[in-house]
Amino acid sequence: MSDAIVVINAGSSSLKFSLFVERGADLELRLRGQVEGLFTAPRFVAKDEAGHVVAEKSWGDGATLGHEGALEHLLGVLRERHGTDRLAGVGHRVVHGGPDYDRPLRVDPKTLDALRAFEPLAPLHQPHNLAPIGTLLERHPALPQVACFDTSFHRGNPELAQMFALPYEMFEQGIRRYGFHGLSYEYIASVLPSLDPVAAAGRTIVLHLGNGASMCALHGGRSVASTMGFTALDGLMMGTRTGSLDPGVVLYLMSARGMDAAAVEKLLYNQSGLLGVSGVSSDMRALLASDAPRARLAIDLYVYRIRRELGALAAALGGLDAIVFTAGIGENAAAIRAAVIRDAHWLGASIDAAANDAGATRLHDAASRVKLWRVPTNEELMIARHTRDVLARG
Ligand code: ADP
Repeated sequence: MSDAIVVINAGSSSLKFSLFVERGADLELRLRGQVEGLFTAPRFVAKDEAGHVVAEKSWGDGATLGHEGALEHLLGVLRERHGTDRLAGVGHRVVHGGPDYDRPLRVDPKTLDALRAFEPLAPLHQPHNLAPIGTLLERHPALPQVACFDTSFHRGNPELAQMFALPYEMFEQGIRRYGFHGLSYEYIASVLPSLDPVAAAGRTIVLHLGNGASMCALHGGRSVASTMGFTALDGLMMGTRTGSLDPGVVLYLMSARGMDAAAVEKLLYNQSGLLGVSGVSSDMRALLASDAPRARLAIDLYVYRIRRELGALAAALGGLDAIVFTAGIGENAAAIRAAVIRDAHWLGASIDAAANDAGATRLHDAASRVKLWRVPTNEELMIARHTRDVLARG
């Protein structure tokens, strides 16, 4: 019998899970999957470590399962398949830990209430992240639960990197740059020492380019600055989000165009980014395959914004030893990696085209002073490790 840890990442319409078991000093993935369409047409699928489907179920169009039903189904499947492993605990991805939570924490009803206070800071994610925690506290109070925050890794940023130039009281009240994708950056920082000890001890910029996208400056493996701010809207252009935008545009849309807060929120989160500029898709694969001129324009703007932030973060670091590409686009879109590095000679970076096309781990050529790496991220493993460590501390 070994200890198992379930990792849960709950969104508005889906609940993703992974099951890890202890394997020597680390943890090994045994099962992963999700319930999609929680409120429309729920469908469950679980795959083993080799990617083979081992369990599935559909509830049909119009059915409603919700987070509670999805969790009970998931626990049932886990009991059935892994009844011999002791479920040591559940680790949750929680987008917002507010200004003070700088590390994962064991959740009880009191801390859950504290985390609910951050819902207005991340209204599209936080309530869904917390829903399964509440359900499990109620139905399985003896099952230990750990919340792992996307913001924690950036809490050690210097104060200047966390501040807006608003009245200082607002900073004290929590209106500050939080930064996100912290679990991904922390995982990359954990891999870096074995890959590139110089960069691990020195200055690295990590590009997390998924549907959501951000960049993080690491110094000695710790985050010192990132492109996302108060919310996950700031910084890079994303699948459907604007990234950085002059706040004057928002004022104009509201005062001169009569848009209300809900309409602006929809515009900035769901109708902009790659989708808004291209008019074709939010999906990078579709844009790379498209002949539409605005698909090309969207890609050009996407790359341009990354290159500007590369300069900004290199300046914040005062130099650069390595660049790491990760997440869906960073790991898989060789054309985007090549375009980002194309004019980066001034930074001391040049890419090996063949290695890049082949999706190698090492992407730099022999002349490149700055090392270039492609590293698949693993936020789930990071959450599982944190959960194990928090529970071990008791
Ligand atoms: P999420 O932020 O939802 O976890 P991912 O990290 O899975 O997203 O990234 C999704 C993005 O990665 C999409 O834009 C998708 O088109 C892109 N992507 C995935 N595979 C490829 C590929 N082979 N080539 C180009 N883009 C890809």
